[in-house]
Amino acid sequence: MKEQLSRLLVLQKHDIRVKELEKERVSLPREIESMKTDVGELEKILQKELDSLGEVNTWRKEQENALNEDEEKIQKRLRDMDKVTTGKDYFDLQKELEYHKKRAKEHETEVLKLMGVVEEREKIVTSRQEQIKSFWEMVHKREAEIEASLKTVEEEYALLVGQRQELFSGIDKALIRKYDFLAARRFPPLVPALEERCTGCSMGIPPQKFNSLYDAKEIVECPFCARILYIEEE
Ligand SMILES: [Zn+2]
Repeated sequence: MKEQLSRLLVLQKHDIRVKELEKERVSLPREIESMKTDVGELEKILQKELDSLGEVNTWRKEQENALNEDEEKIQKRLRDMDKVTTGKDYFDLQKELEYHKKRAKEHETEVLKLMGVVEEREKIVTSRQEQIKSFWEMVHKREAEIEASLKTVEEEYALLVGQRQELFSGIDKALIRKYDFLAARRFPPLVPALEERCTGCSMGIPPQKFNSLYDAKEIVECPFCARILYIEEE
């Protein structure tokens, strides 16, 4: 039985590696997916920043147009002043002129303020675009690495899956069935017994059972979790 147990351990070692590879087959593509999701979030933030920049620019243009209109009105009033004949018309024009000058000043202040805001938001947008660009570079670099790893993983996985049957030789069919049954429920199905305890479930093993492990004449199962027990050799 000792020989069969050691063959079974070889099979288990093989299966442990297969399970590791199975995990990598899932986790590697997932890693890239999650990186892409993160860049997607940054791109959403950039879009909001671009929208807000657009709004400020629209408002700035409106204020600039208003300023241009003020200036045209000022020029018109100045031309009209040359033509007036009465003191009252002159007084009225003077009043209008003052009003438009005041408006022009207000619009100019607003335009200058908005220019500053535009400049600030353009800086934010530029730095966000640079951040996204370097993030994408990182994603593409990691993606290439992952594709290479995945290729190796797939090759090893296919090889190991193909080799599994060969590892059955020298092991009783019934024992393989038991192993597979356990493996599907509690992996790994073979565990060492240490200090009269099952290392699978940590429960104590009755002394008689524990001692029989040294003979290795028969398969010994943990009475609590049903895993196959063995004694680890130094
Ligand atoms: Zn156990």
